[in-house]
Amino acid sequence: MKIAIIGTGYVGLVTGACFASKGHDVICVDVIEEKVSKINEGIAPIYEEGLDELLKELVPKKKLKATLNAKDAVMLSELIIICVGTPSKDEAIFDYTYLEEATKNVGLALKESDDYKVVVIKSTCSPGTTLNLIKPILEETSGKESGEDFGLGFNPEFLREGVAVEDFLNPDRIVIGGIDERSIKSIRTVFEDFDSPILEVDPTTAEMIKITSNSFLAMKISFINEIANITEKIGSDIQDVAKGMGLDHRISDKFLRAGLGWGGSCFPKDISALYHQSKEVGVPSKLLESTIAANKKQPLRAVEILKSALEDRSFEGKKIVILGLAFKPDTDDMRDAVSIPIINHLLDKDAIIYATDPIAIENAKGYLDHSNLHFVKDPAEALEDADACILVTEWKKFALLTPKIFAESMKTPILIDGRRFFDPAKMRAEGVIYYGIGLGK
Ligand code: NAD
Repeated sequence: MKIAIIGTGYVGLVTGACFASKGHDVICVDVIEEKVSKINEGIAPIYEEGLDELLKELVPKKKLKATLNAKDAVMLSELIIICVGTPSKDEAIFDYTYLEEATKNVGLALKESDDYKVVVIKSTCSPGTTLNLIKPILEETSGKESGEDFGLGFNPEFLREGVAVEDFLNPDRIVIGGIDERSIKSIRTVFEDFDSPILEVDPTTAEMIKITSNSFLAMKISFINEIANITEKIGSDIQDVAKGMGLDHRISDKFLRAGLGWGGSCFPKDISALYHQSKEVGVPSKLLESTIAANKKQPLRAVEILKSALEDRSFEGKKIVILGLAFKPDTDDMRDAVSIPIINHLLDKDAIIYATDPIAIENAKGYLDHSNLHFVKDPAEALEDADACILVTEWKKFALLTPKIFAESMKTPILIDGRRFFDPAKMRAEGVIYYGIGLGK
């Protein structure tokens, strides 16, 4: 099938590369010239495991190319998948500026074409958006009728950054929300050789499935985080509690790892938008509201624990190392990363921060800037003479930091393990003053 992908970020480029790897002819569209050139050189403009390899293979074979010209891409394609960003606006609702613009461009191209094409929205949006916003824009700009002249649907994406290629190719489920049978059939074609259950619904239900799935996962993490704060006080270990809970298949051990809270480009905005919509339709959700509030507080647990561990209870002039900046391991994505509020809070209290991350330092510079903030490539070097360290993102690489390194390099070896990454017994045996989220004394 000939496919146009509008918007080549984490979702769009992975979608395009994976469909091209299945034999489809893919044209990726973006508004950023640098991204387009890089893709055409076979280089991924973002870090995502396996993506560079796919581009290196598929670009020379001409199965995948990129362009700035949306009209040409739409004219040449049968399926047009819109994957532009829908960031949050005023921390509560989705900002549809990019989505509206991309949709208009697609509509204008549809106007010029005599062929039946199907437009698919993959960008996450509030339930009702495909029917109430996208459909009217497409009909107005194209002068055509949906269902009659072109197809339309919403196909949510559930991939996780870091393992996006793997997730895209092996999803737990594929949800197709089409306005009619013809649209659904057409979208189904590209998933024919996927070994996953396919659910066919209307667009609004598909949008609801996406946003409620993310909200539920966020709520599950916040639940275990709040329980972790309790176990810390009553003297048990959240890891054992979570293990005991997770062995119950009705609960499962997924998303039961206590830590410093959830971040990233999806959970925060999706749950906020759903909460906003619950209020709008007159059934404000207390659970969603509490989940959002609990997550706002959670990153600062690390700061509270550290404060109580410091002899003089003051951050002023202290050298504090932050291990990990990205919102989670295996990605360079800094959007809503919990490292940001932690670092900003410590800088406000006059701490001197040495922050390290295997790949997110360049992106982090766009989010954090202060004369007392230093980015260091080598974590062992960052730890030298430090007063304390907080592990924020559990990169596998940090396992190279042995208890000896903490004990011998740091001025005072205080380690706040925000993700329960290190072995407390081994750390303590070497003299490290170890604190773990949810680990009672
Ligand atoms: P992103 O910001 O990484 O990428 C969006 C891309 O769209 C950018 O490259 C941008 O330049 C481009 N763009 C903006 N306006 C355009 C236009 N008019 N025409 C062409 N390109 C345009 O975003 P992302 O993380 O890939 O997310 C995309 C959507 O998918 C969002 O709605 C997001 O919520 C959703 N989603 C993201 C993830 C994830 O893990 N990142 C997972 C599932 C769903």
